[in-house]
Amino acid sequence: MRATRAIIHLEHFKKNLEAIRQKIGPHPFICLPVKADAYGHGAVRIAIAALQMGVKYLAVASVQEGIELRQAGIVAPILLFSLPIPEEIPDLVRYRLTPLVSDGEFCDEFARHVATTGECRPVHLKIDTGMGRIGCQTQEAPSLVQRIHATGVLRLEGTATHFAVADSLLPEDIQYTQKQIRAFKEAIERIRDRGYDPGILHAANSGAVVLHEEAYFDMVRPGLLAYGYPPIKERAGSVPVRPVMELQSRVVFIKRVPQGTSISYGRTWQAPQDTTIITIPVGYADGLVRGLSGKFSVFIRGALYPQVGRICMDQCMVDVGPKATIQRWDVVSIFGGPLPCPSAADLAEQLGTIPYEITCGINKRVPRVYVE
Ligand SMILES: *Cc1c(COP(=O)(O)O)cnc(C)c1O
Repeated sequence: MRATRAIIHLEHFKKNLEAIRQKIGPHPFICLPVKADAYGHGAVRIAIAALQMGVKYLAVASVQEGIELRQAGIVAPILLFSLPIPEEIPDLVRYRLTPLVSDGEFCDEFARHVATTGECRPVHLKIDTGMGRIGCQTQEAPSLVQRIHATGVLRLEGTATHFAVADSLLPEDIQYTQKQIRAFKEAIERIRDRGYDPGILHAANSGAVVLHEEAYFDMVRPGLLAYGYPPIKERAGSVPVRPVMELQSRVVFIKRVPQGTSISYGRTWQAPQDTTIITIPVGYADGLVRGLSGKFSVFIRGALYPQVGRICMDQCMVDVGPKATIQRWDVVSIFGGPLPCPSAADLAEQLGTIPYEITCGINKRVPRVYVE
């Protein structure tokens, strides 16, 4: 196996789920989003570990992601967060994925395929209370529920919404989330007033798990927290989690260079003194974004060393200083290792992005190695 690998610390993952459980109390189910290959961690292995920990639902973004789980033998309910196109509906039925219904057209089309099986299938109603993505308008919810029932083959198993700014401490954002929660509750009341049962109510992503207890309802859907990143830095202590993914590589080359030596493409960095430069076989094709060039340090033998020069497609260089004790073949942690190793959140901050984009971006070519 190549030197560059993503170590997936399942023991951290399990502790993170325990921390979430501690925070939400005994009642709500946990639905674990394993979309985007479990945020880059490997959907099948993560799903199996989660189900062993008592997670009741899984969620994916595409039908293909759902098929992968089913083909691995997973029989737990799987919610489909994004809308499929009509050609995908036969597989949605075949692999027993539970769609979110946001409109009558999709409802009827899905029902038409379900009818051919002679079975009744669950769906969840998705209400847009302010995210502005998929979901019906709040006032349309009761008539859409009626339409779901009218199909005769669909059963309303749950009702959901999604928050836009649940991970923000700004007073106007907190108010906005509270407004979304109120709109969700009102829609649920109207559904009940028409004599229908809205089923399992769910709304909370990681931000809401940390910040909005009123949004727990019957089920929560925390992704980021489960993978070990606090959605709100200032509240990191309230649900103590640790990164699950550690990106590692190895020192494959060492050389002494005189002061003034330029390193890598574009000659953007010159050695300020005589020093030792190591090469590690990880680059932007692995997901180590080129924009991070010269902006982070790696962790080797208990200390941090700055990455220098441009990150290449498959390799990058690190200045380990004039008196280096680093040896060839030493393990290098790029993110997610023991402190003071940076986390994916630290790298994300350097790039002006979010940790999701870092872990999701770790390429297929990087093998995932699961440790218990
Ligand atoms: C991705 C997603 C989540 C999880 O969000 P986190 O911020 O990772 O907790 C929850 N619900 C829906 C609908 C999503 O798409």
